[in-house]
Amino acid sequence: MRSSDEIIVPGHPRWLEFASRLNRARFCFGTTEQARSALAGMADVNVEGSLHALARLGGTCDCQIELDVVHSPAGVGA
Ligand SMILES: [Zn+2]
Repeated sequence: MRSSDEIIVPGHPRWLEFASRLNRARFCFGTTEQARSALAGMADVNVEGSLHALARLGGTCDCQIELDVVHSPAGVGA
């Protein structure tokens, strides 16, 4: 695994960094553009790979990522 190619998913050490960036996204347009730009703003992240992994977890648009993935018990723990 290359350090320049990180996949950001729940449980990743930088997941909260991504979550706090995405937290600034207030509106969902049915796309993952805000998640994409949040990831793109982080260094050494595989943006497409991360979006793919999030989509498999149910995060198919910005609000789904925020509501279902960021706040899922599997992601943060309760
Ligand atoms: Zn949405």
